[in-house]
Amino acid sequence: MSVNVLLDPADPALRSWVPGANNPDGDFPIQNLPYGTVDGGVAVRIGNKALVLRDVLEADLFVKKLASSDEFQMAMDMAWLNGIAELSPEQQTMLRRNLAYMLAEGSPARPKLERLLRDANDASVEAPEDAPFVVGDYTDFYASLHHATNVGSMFRPTNPLLPNWKHVPIGYHGRASSIIPSGRPVIRPSGQTVASDDGPPSFGPCKLLDYELEVGFYVGVGNELGETVPVTDAWRRIFGFCLVNDWSARDIQKWEYQPLGPFLAKNFATTVSPWVVTREALEPFRVAGPSRAADDPRPLDYLCDPNGTNIDITLEVFIASLKMRNSGLAPTLVSRGSFRDMFWTPAQMLAHHASNGCNMQIGDLLASGTVSGATKDSRGCMLERTWRGTEPITLGDGTERKFLLDGDEVIIRGHCVKPGHPRIGFGECRGIVLPARA
Ligand code: MN
Repeated sequence: MSVNVLLDPADPALRSWVPGANNPDGDFPIQNLPYGTVDGGVAVRIGNKALVLRDVLEADLFVKKLASSDEFQMAMDMAWLNGIAELSPEQQTMLRRNLAYMLAEGSPARPKLERLLRDANDASVEAPEDAPFVVGDYTDFYASLHHATNVGSMFRPTNPLLPNWKHVPIGYHGRASSIIPSGRPVIRPSGQTVASDDGPPSFGPCKLLDYELEVGFYVGVGNELGETVPVTDAWRRIFGFCLVNDWSARDIQKWEYQPLGPFLAKNFATTVSPWVVTREALEPFRVAGPSRAADDPRPLDYLCDPNGTNIDITLEVFIASLKMRNSGLAPTLVSRGSFRDMFWTPAQMLAHHASNGCNMQIGDLLASGTVSGATKDSRGCMLERTWRGTEPITLGDGTERKFLLDGDEVIIRGHCVKPGHPRIGFGECRGIVLPARA
């Protein structure tokens, strides 16, 4: 490996020649370099542009040691990120550093690369056909204390938090087949709902459709069946992070969730953002945590992570009605919180998931559960935000919402800021609600 064609993108002083990359309010500086897919190929996002890595390979611009490796060539033949995640840690580091070198100010590769860049607002970049990974399995956790307490207190006022909650990261197995990319519409689901707690049920379109603001992460290094993932080793096994909207049908959920948990109320659609922000890019934004109250139980040993951290990601949810979009009104901000407030960390979720010997595989998606904070405006779903519809929110067009209506678009954004470091963003996770099928 010749060192003069590699640069460390972790250097906060590094700047790029790509348009938009040095914008202080932008999501995609050279320190980010998130991966996604464009035109059926692996791509990296920077500033207002995207670069398809196969184009770079064909132009013979990658360092020889990387370009000539079988694993790398196989990864370039894939339309998903699974092959990139399968590269050795050394190859992944080399790829990031080689890209940083090519995209940094003053790079001699600029004239050749300029011709390969694609505009970020091209349809193929903005609205990918598929989610960035082939996800074998998807699990959704319930890791926010505020969310669990709020939802619990609506349904069990005297007993909001069940006795297990502070001991065991609660989750359910979601469905991978209905994970969809940002931009694909979501059809309002139909299902069994009841007018009163005991039934009888009727079948029809969901009336209480909700979003859930979540952060997801893709597994980069898995474990064999029967083996486990030590919590202190879990962070480095995460490939990268994304934004997730766990669309939820609250009326269907209410009737079906006991005794086995969510089922059809959740698995009609889960939207993921197109760009996967690598664990490396988020390193500067790791913060001590999670905080535990003095009388909280100490985690059991297998979940005890002395150097465990949360990540300080600011998260926002916006809603735009059809009328707002048609009249050019900006989407209304309905929630703003931080991922740093979570009670369980991504490392604890991964270690817990594998603690029974369940094999985690490359590209598996684990999501955090709704991210809610202590304040009203940081509640991460409509159920909490409108307190079961009793406190409606008003959108920019003057209309009120208790839950989502047909035509509403939900937009989730996320970013990290820290003095002395360029802002690292996630882009957007979007979805428009379409009417139920007749
Ligand atoms: Mn969820």
